[in-house]
Amino acid sequence: MYCRNCGAQIDDKAVICPHCGVPTDNYYAAPPHSYNQTAPQTAPERDEPNTGFAVLGFFFPIVGLILYLVWMHTMPLRAKSCGKGALIGVITQVALSVLIIIMVVVTTLIIYGPTISLFATAAL
Ligand SMILES: [Zn+2]
Repeated sequence: MYCRNCGAQIDDKAVICPHCGVPTDNYYAAPPHSYNQTAPQTAPERDEPNTGFAVLGFFFPIVGLILYLVWMHTMPLRAKSCGKGALIGVITQVALSVLIIIMVVVTTLIIYGPTISLFATAAL
């Protein structure tokens, strides 16, 4: 094709005339530039309860707590999920720890109970 401005013969796919630098018809026909296209699509992250982060907080309460503090103001609903997961995780872990300690103590008493009472008797 020929440039509208200077009349020089240019490539049919040329967007700008290499001779005079004036945009060709392709410039206006071409789809918008990529930065124009992506800009409206990058919507801000939605704030909603997130089960994934709740599960994460459950297994790693420290991470859940940090995420809760980070998102407390910007994304309160997601932060709540993290916090709730972390809280349930902490309670579960404490309960399990107490249960394990009780089991260890009980098991120790059952196995070494007679020996301990023997020592106690000997000490007296
Ligand atoms: Zn030209």
